[in-house]
Amino acid sequence: MSLPTFKFLRPRTLRQAADYLARHGSDLMVLAGGTDLLPSMKQKLFTPAYLMDIRGIEEIRGIHVRPGAGMEIGALTPLSAIEDSEFIRRNYRVLHEAAMTVASPILRNMGTLGGNICLDTRCVWYNQSLQWRRSCGFCIKKDGDLCHVAPGGKFCWAAFSGDTPPALLCLGAEVEIVGPSGLRRVAMKDFYTNVGDVRMKLEPNEMLTRVFLPEESAGWKGSYMKLRIRGSIDYPLAGVAVALKKNGGPVENARVAITAVNPAPLLVKGADNALVGKQIDEHVAAVVGELAAKMAKPLTTSGLTPEYRREIVKVYAKRAVLACVLSRA
Ligand SMILES: Cc1cc2nc3c(=O)[nH]c(=O)nc-3n(C[C@H](O)[C@H](O)[C@H](O)COP(=O)(O)OP(=O)(O)OC[C@H]3O[C@@H](n4cnc5c(N)ncnc54)[C@H](O)[C@@H]3O)c2cc1C
Repeated sequence: MSLPTFKFLRPRTLRQAADYLARHGSDLMVLAGGTDLLPSMKQKLFTPAYLMDIRGIEEIRGIHVRPGAGMEIGALTPLSAIEDSEFIRRNYRVLHEAAMTVASPILRNMGTLGGNICLDTRCVWYNQSLQWRRSCGFCIKKDGDLCHVAPGGKFCWAAFSGDTPPALLCLGAEVEIVGPSGLRRVAMKDFYTNVGDVRMKLEPNEMLTRVFLPEESAGWKGSYMKLRIRGSIDYPLAGVAVALKKNGGPVENARVAITAVNPAPLLVKGADNALVGKQIDEHVAAVVGELAAKMAKPLTTSGLTPEYRREIVKVYAKRAVLACVLSRA
């Protein structure tokens, strides 16, 4: 379980990082907190010739409120900073709740928002040592050509298992990307592919720099609920985020997103229509639960059965909607 050999690059500015990406992009991986990447490299899931440690790039670290334009969060911002931000807790509640469920306090100190958004997809046949994979058989995602989860299938079903992306989807976030032609911005809802082995629309010579939250979704009520094996430290096996705008009267705007049950975090289709203009009650919340469960396509990528995970999505979506009405923030 030693690390493979690689050349180590440490840019201090975005321009330097962009130069390295342009020169070595297809043979380079970005290292942020390293909490997911380094264990995966020890399992020989990645053996890049170059590892680019971006932790020295101060310009993409920190939380900045931009009056009139919402908020900007640097990709290098640790998840613990999001958890500790009173501004985020009050204004972007669903993101605060999602960030505080990631892994454990120590991992949230090291792990970054950018790393959470770009997290590799997970599967019980993939996140294993080289020896394990060699004995049980390789798969489409790494070194093989078959899928153990959907036999005969040519599609990788590894599940995207990050906690903050569904919250960001609910808030209408955009990500900023640096590449050879400078900076570009992409809506989070268009960032993922929903294919397990090519999880996001990021070229090898690009990296994530910042996340933007619109002012329009500040102050929305929010809730995040997650199923995991170990409550103190674990990836989600199902997760539901809900954010809605409501000031005493009926719901004015709403989004619901799910994670860990598809190869991408996804907005739940029809959830906005089911909520907008309504007073929330058990029935309305249950309709959202049904819609969320319909979008969830978990397969046997983890130790829990797909049926159980889909049922939990239904229950958690209902509970998260009801929690938004009960929460004071
Ligand atoms: C025991 C354990 C439990 C965990 N539990 C959870 C959990 O509950 N929920 C959860 O969401 N995660 C969990 N994680 C995973 C991880 O800790 C977090 O997702 C963390 O936010 C990853 O951030 P990082 O900065 O450490 O990313 P890294 O490990 O540095 O990188 C992760 C991936 O993103 C890429 N990357 C990083 N930054 C950028 C960038 N700016 N631009 C482009 N690509 C980039 C890397 O190349 C790599 O592919 C867990 C990890 C462990 C070890």
